[in-house]
Amino acid sequence: MAKKYVYFFGEGKAEGKAEMKNLLGGKGANLAEMVSLKIPVPAGFTITTEVCTVYYQNKKKYPKELKSQVETALKKVEAVMKANFGATQNPLLFSVRSGARQSMPGMMETVLNVGLTTQTIPGMIEKTKNERFVYDAYRRLITMYADVVMEKAAGIEPEEGKGIRQQLEHILEHVKEQHGFQQDTELSVDDLKSICGQYKEKIKEVLGKEFPDQHSEQVWGAIGAVFQSWMGRRAVAYRKIEGIPYEWGTAVNVQSMVFGNMGDTSATGVAFTRNPSTGDSNFYGEWLVNAQGEDVVAGIRTPLPINISTKTEVTLSMKSLEEAMPDTYKALDGIRRRLEKHYRDMQDIEFTIQEGRLWMLQTRSGKRNGPAAVKIAADMVREKLIKKEEAVLRIKPNQIDELLHPMVDPRAEPGAVKLATGLPAGPGGAVGKIVLTANEAEAAAKRGEKVILVRNETSPEDVHGMHAAQAILTAKGGMTSHAALVARGWGKCCIVGCSALQIDMGTKMIKVGGRTLREGDTITLNGSKGAVYQGALSLAIMDPEQNEDYKAVMKWAKEFKKLGVRTNGDRPEDADVARKFGAEGIGLCRTEHMFFDPQRIKAMREMIVAEKQEDRRRALAKLLPFQQADFYGILKSMEGLPVTIRLLDPPLHEFLPHADQQIQELAQELGVTAERLKARIHQLHELNPMLGHRGCRLGITYPEITEMQARAIFQAAAQLTKEKVKVLPEVMVPLVGTKKELDHQKVLIEQIAKAVMQEQNIKFNYLIGTMIEVPRAAVTADKIAESAQFFSFGTNDLTQMTFGFSRDDINSFLPDYIDQKILPEDPFQTIDVAGVGELIQIAIKKGRGVNKQLKVGICGEHGGDPSTVNFCHRIGMNYVSCSPYRVPIAIIAAAHAALKK
Ligand code: PEP
Ligand code: MG
Repeated sequence: MAKKYVYFFGEGKAEGKAEMKNLLGGKGANLAEMVSLKIPVPAGFTITTEVCTVYYQNKKKYPKELKSQVETALKKVEAVMKANFGATQNPLLFSVRSGARQSMPGMMETVLNVGLTTQTIPGMIEKTKNERFVYDAYRRLITMYADVVMEKAAGIEPEEGKGIRQQLEHILEHVKEQHGFQQDTELSVDDLKSICGQYKEKIKEVLGKEFPDQHSEQVWGAIGAVFQSWMGRRAVAYRKIEGIPYEWGTAVNVQSMVFGNMGDTSATGVAFTRNPSTGDSNFYGEWLVNAQGEDVVAGIRTPLPINISTKTEVTLSMKSLEEAMPDTYKALDGIRRRLEKHYRDMQDIEFTIQEGRLWMLQTRSGKRNGPAAVKIAADMVREKLIKKEEAVLRIKPNQIDELLHPMVDPRAEPGAVKLATGLPAGPGGAVGKIVLTANEAEAAAKRGEKVILVRNETSPEDVHGMHAAQAILTAKGGMTSHAALVARGWGKCCIVGCSALQIDMGTKMIKVGGRTLREGDTITLNGSKGAVYQGALSLAIMDPEQNEDYKAVMKWAKEFKKLGVRTNGDRPEDADVARKFGAEGIGLCRTEHMFFDPQRIKAMREMIVAEKQEDRRRALAKLLPFQQADFYGILKSMEGLPVTIRLLDPPLHEFLPHADQQIQELAQELGVTAERLKARIHQLHELNPMLGHRGCRLGITYPEITEMQARAIFQAAAQLTKEKVKVLPEVMVPLVGTKKELDHQKVLIEQIAKAVMQEQNIKFNYLIGTMIEVPRAAVTADKIAESAQFFSFGTNDLTQMTFGFSRDDINSFLPDYIDQKILPEDPFQTIDVAGVGELIQIAIKKGRGVNKQLKVGICGEHGGDPSTVNFCHRIGMNYVSCSPYRVPIAIIAAAHAALKK
């Protein structure tokens, strides 16, 4: 039997169905499905995506069976519509549209009114009793056909502004000018006739061919043009961005025309079965009387609200479809309910009313924002339309994020002045006055002002100002820069690597593009997109705690996920926020952040500049009570959940004063000369600090630091155990590359644990483990696992060292790498599965080969990235750890990973 290339649909019978999207494209499959549901759809047929593939494989020739299959389908359509294609009486017209497996909005071509010729025009006038309408339709056909079929599909590339469509539009404008008309609707029948004549002459003159006057030539020309448009420039570019394979091809839908522009009983509209921006279950849409579909979308006329309940202040006085055509509205509302029940999802629909009769032209699953996605999913479970599993799977992990941050109102953005774009390091939106120093940020915040801290980059010394600011904007740095890490940890809006900013700290001015901004000027950041705007844009805020839908969806996600989700947090406040969001422990407590408090930094600096061990010990003794109090707070707020505490990691000189005044002050306090202190600072200076004296190397050269930190952890654990609070500290040694490094630290930690237990006469549980963040540790993980009870992959450093990319400087070349597809994405955001991922897998296999019980997690920034979470699930990690505000994203992503298995 010949292969089937054409699928008919009409009058309750369809050869296709919704599941056949790959073959019929989304549009064709859903048209067939609606027909089977007995929903009124103008009859037609779909030419399969396979034809597109064959066409391109076969030097643009159709399979030989196609012609007769199209003819048979045409006859069926004629029978159903009781009209004939090309007939002089009661002629049938067609629309010819593309329809790929995945929607590619506006990327391919459409031709309407196919079949209008000098032979069929009189019959059409007779049928519609409306000569003006027919010539207007003819004018539209000639324009579209000349543009899409005769020019684009023929591969003609006219000069800018010289396209045939523009040349024809000039004719139209000229006639309107001659008569002094403003609107197309003012043109008379004779004007339109004359325009059509002039159009045809112009086409012959410019393209050297006659506009076809044969209905069958028109329909084949239009079908060919749609297939051609699959390889059109726009479609190719869009596929590249969206990752749609070329082999998929497009289907072609040839469908009887219905007209929404046949007078005041005709109309057209687009609608959503629920509100796509709030998720409310109200029917939501827009319509226009006496109009064609493109008029609603093109924004030439302002569309009207579809019903009374969705009118707003602005649309209050407009007439809704519900009021203008109550019966048709009722029928449409009935279809809306049936479609939702059938598809079990919110639909985006298009309809046309021709002289009071309703026709559906399209249905597909509707796009929605985060809050709407959550509400719709939760409501549909309650309505018993979908299962909890489906509800969770329908929410994209990043959509959850939209519920947790104030967002820039999307309606405010298009009209705003965009100053620059950087990397979207902390999502959400923020409005504030520019401040250029952390101190000023803090002072302004104390005065009750909202500020945005703008800097070249931030350092740990800026933390107080970063905390006080609404948002952070830096000219330098990547997605794992200090500013990005800190901001994300607090759920703060942040843009980094915004290289267009030229900050002059002397004049306190910022040059960006051609503009100059001053401290005190207001700007708005969209941290989800990385966009910086001039002035104040409005923000929209939601509180997830008050959102029952959010809470329900998160509860289901937790039931389904297998992977643990912990948080990275340094303070009890972080721990509390993260627990509210569902964190099941702390995966990384970076102890160094605790030392920047003004009371502690002095003791810290004293410790660092000390040249003798006993001086260091004296300074460390001052830090001990502070550290103990920190650990007490965090362990207490986690109530027995595991808390991974990392020993000191960053290069010591990060804590040192650099400004002269600070050096003077510290020297005075330490009772040494400024010169002597400067010399010590100079001595501590490193050329490559990230590869220098940091991590466990510090604890090895200065064991007293490890001892103090271990003591602080265990004394806090002892104290809480006495208070009958459960604790589970996990002491983590950073930057280990050899087993001996870990063993060295382990001995110290165990000694202190034993000593504290004896001193306090109490027992508590604890684990000792290591970060795997140096490639050598990954490939010798079997050795390291002999000494470690857990591995936590520090993928920030592991990525840095595997690629040899400095994590703080990547932004100088990463954009080029992405543009040129040398890397598919930023490897500091999404794990590089082939390289870094391979090392992780090797390490897990080797580690668990030695110690089956080995707990394995990830605590680099990747832990909150949905596709990395999926990877972590697949390779059998026990948990991921991420900043508090990304915990819900990781929970949804972990549930997806488990459900999609
Ligand atoms: C890491 O390297 O992935 C990590 C978590 O540690 P840090 O970012 O503090 O170096
Ligand atoms: Mg690290």
